[in-house]
Amino acid sequence: MPNPSHQVIIFLGPPGAGKGTQAERLASDHSLLKISTGDILRDHVTRGTELGLQIRPILDAGQLVPDDVLIALIRDRLASMEKVRVIFDGFPRTTAQARELDVLLEELGAPINAVPLLEVPDEQLIARIVERGKTSGRSDDTEAVARERQQVYREQTQPLIDYYSARGQVRPVDGVGSMDAVYGRILDAVK
Ligand code: AMP
Repeated sequence: MPNPSHQVIIFLGPPGAGKGTQAERLASDHSLLKISTGDILRDHVTRGTELGLQIRPILDAGQLVPDDVLIALIRDRLASMEKVRVIFDGFPRTTAQARELDVLLEELGAPINAVPLLEVPDEQLIARIVERGKTSGRSDDTEAVARERQQVYREQTQPLIDYYSARGQVRPVDGVGSMDAVYGRILDAVK
């Protein structure tokens, strides 16, 4: 039986759409844990762990880290949770990851509540990433890598929109406008 105190939100949207910032706010307003796989992976790179050394060139190139690495990471994070109250930011990114997440959530009795999809036109995405790159310190926030990340998104992550749409879970949100305006739309979408 699903436990009603569980809450699972999956944030979908291209790189640079503002998922991280908005997910952070939603998480703190609703006592949810934000799980950002990009942050977790970058932390490994910064700390120079074995995994960090392996994945650094992948992140720098804007490619995806192998599914088995991500799935192990997420399984680990969810395993210790009594109540699953999470917002996923940047996961899943492939249909294989989405399928595995379904299995994990099924085991925990925690169904997905909503899949907001943050939509921003392509050219704005690149501009936002390049702007962010001035302060983020991220090696992948350059124009060339940003373009590669958009391409990877289109090929590998966009199919997830159909995957979750088939179950009626996707809620498109216009991601253009002030942070507050976009946040208001997200709140409406996940209600
Ligand atoms: P993000 O901060 O979400 O833009 O992620 C930064 C980078 O981390 C991506 O370009 C990928 O190299 C890697 N990454 C983050 N999440 C995933 C994921 N779910 N699957 C594969 N690679 C990921």
